[in-house]
Formats: sequence, structure tokens, C-alpha cells
Amino acid sequence: MGIIENKIKNRARTFFGNFKYDLFFAPSRINLIGEHLDYNGGYVLPAAIDIGSYIAIRKNGTNKIRLRSLNAKVYRELEIGEDFNPKNNWLNYPLGMVNFLKKRGYNVEGFDGVIMGNIPTGSGLSSSASLEILIGYCMSELFNDGKIDNKILAEVGMDVENKFIGLNSGIMDQFAIAMGRKDKMILLDTSNLNFSYEDIDLDNNALMILNTKKHRKLTDSKYNERKAECDKSLEIINRTKNYKFLSEISTNEMDEVLSLLNEDTLVKRVRHIITENQRVLDFIKASREKDYVYMGSLLNESDRSLKDDYEVTGYELDTITSLARYFGALGARMTGAGFGGCAIALIKSKDRSYFKRALLTEYKNKTSLSGEIYEVVISDGPRRIIE
Ligand code: ADP
Ligand code: MG
Repeated sequence: MGIIENKIKNRARTFFGNFKYDLFFAPSRINLIGEHLDYNGGYVLPAAIDIGSYIAIRKNGTNKIRLRSLNAKVYRELEIGEDFNPKNNWLNYPLGMVNFLKKRGYNVEGFDGVIMGNIPTGSGLSSSASLEILIGYCMSELFNDGKIDNKILAEVGMDVENKFIGLNSGIMDQFAIAMGRKDKMILLDTSNLNFSYEDIDLDNNALMILNTKKHRKLTDSKYNERKAECDKSLEIINRTKNYKFLSEISTNEMDEVLSLLNEDTLVKRVRHIITENQRVLDFIKASREKDYVYMGSLLNESDRSLKDDYEVTGYELDTITSLARYFGALGARMTGAGFGGCAIALIKSKDRSYFKRALLTEYKNKTSLSGEIYEVVISDGPRRIIE
């Protein structure tokens, strides 16, 4: 058992009594390519990673949720069924999950637990979805004989973000975390939730996470603004066309469709969606053919589109991805919602330590921030930790 598992178990005994606690883990995720497409019915290509959220948990025989997080100060005892309350802070995520599972007819009861995550929070690796899926998985294991499908947990997690927290996000994060599989990328068609596991064979190359350490601000309002711009564009386009999602529009139809939009901003947003969707398919093909140079250039092209057309990057992300390219990465792009947080880079393994050192030094010179770099390890979905 690792350090985190021991720590949360001991803290649970201190907070809630010397009982037997079960241990569970849920991963976080990166997205290789296909950004801001999951609320536009497009393809996304995420993977669960080996950093995530841990919990020591036991049933408490009441209707109360008593949860501590070693990553957060706020502690409040909650009643199952209670409404969203900003004062509940981070506890709104677990509360939402429990409430929404109950609404779907699953059995939920009170529990005591201590959580600890090793995901940098608010950094675009989806710590919120990790927390949701962790709690959902525990509800399945503790109160439903493990019978809640992981895909249902993903749907409920998205509902919690949309209808409880107020973030109009798509299903990618929760799906990637709930359905994660070791060494596999998940090619997900968000228009119908069809998906396949794709091998990722990097040969002598490596995928790195570049954390800008720039805390995202206004992410939720900007995120909802992008979603609203996409919805408005689709409504204008559909005055003469009939698309269910923006991602249905092919690159061949793009010029004609863009000419229907009367605002430059909307043209840029839709151009990102259409070209990004095609890049996911091109990336899969390149990956199957082990064409790493082309994979890298698609990452770069995606990043350029997110910077210029979708306008969700920012100085720190742009700096870290440009430096990654300068120091030899085959490609680099922001991952997740953007506005700060993390990027990913595909690098040649032989450059690894030079790459890290040179990039972090130069990044600090330019931003005064101490960035961090971790190697991506693609992991399984939520699971019980056997002692
Ligand atoms: P992201 O999902 O990209 O990490 P969000 O802003 O969506 O960023 O979610 C971060 C929030 O999720 C935190 O502010 C906190 O409320 C909650 N959260 C995630 N992990 C934990 C944790 N281990 N303990 C407490 N709260 C957490
Ligand atoms: Mg989140």
C-alpha cells in the first residue's frame, strides 16, 4: 500500500473512529486531441492517467455524508438530498453525485470518508471529474453490489457539472476517467457515445504533461461563453441547413457554412470545431501508422487553432508550448479547457532530461512561474485498492 493510502486510512480513523475502511482510486485524464468538441458532438481522444483521487471510506448507517479532503480546508456535514450551496465548496461535487444517483433510482446511504488527490487541481487534468467518478464508483461498490455501469457514472458526473455546479461541459472528462484502460487511448464519438480503445505505441518517443502552474481564472464563465457561441452559430447555420451538431459539418462544406455566419468571432469558433474534428481522425490514422512527425504537427495545428480561432490559451500556455517546440518536441498543445493549466508534448525520449531542464528554466525566465513536467502513464479507470 502506498503513502497516500496509508495516510487517508489513518486520518479516517482519527476523524471518524477506529473502524475498517475500504480504499478506492479514480484516475484523472489527458486529452490527446479533439478539444472543446465534446459539447459539439465531435470526436475526442482522451486517456486516463495514473495520477488521481484516493478515498478511505465506510458506511456510517445514517443519511449523512461526512467527507474530509486532505487537499481542502472546508468541512461540512451534509445530508443526502441537500441542495447545491456555494458554502459547501468542493463538497458540492460528491453531494451532487450522490443526489443524482439517487434521482436515477440507485441506492445511496450515508458514509464517512477521507479523500486525497495527487492531481494538480484546476490544472485542466479534470480533478473535478476524478472526484465525481470516485464517489460514484464508491456508491456502486458500497450500496449497489458494484452494479452501476461505469458509463452511467460518466453520464451522472456530466449531469452534476451541468445541473448542479453550473458548468455546461460535455461528457469527455467523466467518460475518459470512468472508462479508462491501461495503455489505451479512447476514441469517443460524443454524438452517440460510440467508442473504441486505440493502442498508443510511442516507440522511442514520450508524452509529457507540461503544467504552466498558471491558475485558471474565469474558466467557467469563459467555458459557458464558448458553448453559447457554438449554440448560437448552429442556430444561425440551421436557418438554411439541418445539422444536429457543428461537428457534423465536413471540411469540404466548411467554406459554404462559414459564409452563413455574420460575425467574425462565430466564424473562428466554428472553423476550430470543424477542423479539429478532422484532426482527431487524422491523428488516429497517423498513430496507427506510427507517423510521429505527422502526429506532432497535428498537435501543433490543434494548438494554433485553439489559440487563434477558439481563443482559449493565454500567455503561459502559449509560452510553454512554444518553448516545447523550440526545445525539440515533435508537437505540443494545451489540453483540457484551457485558459491556463496543462499542455501535453510529444517528445523524442533521448531528449528527455535536457528537454525538461531547458524548458523549465526558460519558462521561468519568461513567466516567473515554476512550471512542472510529468511523464504520462496511461492507466485503468476507477478501482478498489486491495490491501
Ligand atoms: P479541473 O477539473 O480541471 O481540475 P475544476 O475547477 O473543474 O478543475 O475542478 C477543481 C475543483 O474540484 C476544486 O476546486 C475542488 O472543488 C474539486 N476537487 C478536485 N479534487 C479535489 C480533492 N482531492 N479534494 C477536494 N476538492 C477537490
Ligand atoms: Mg473540472
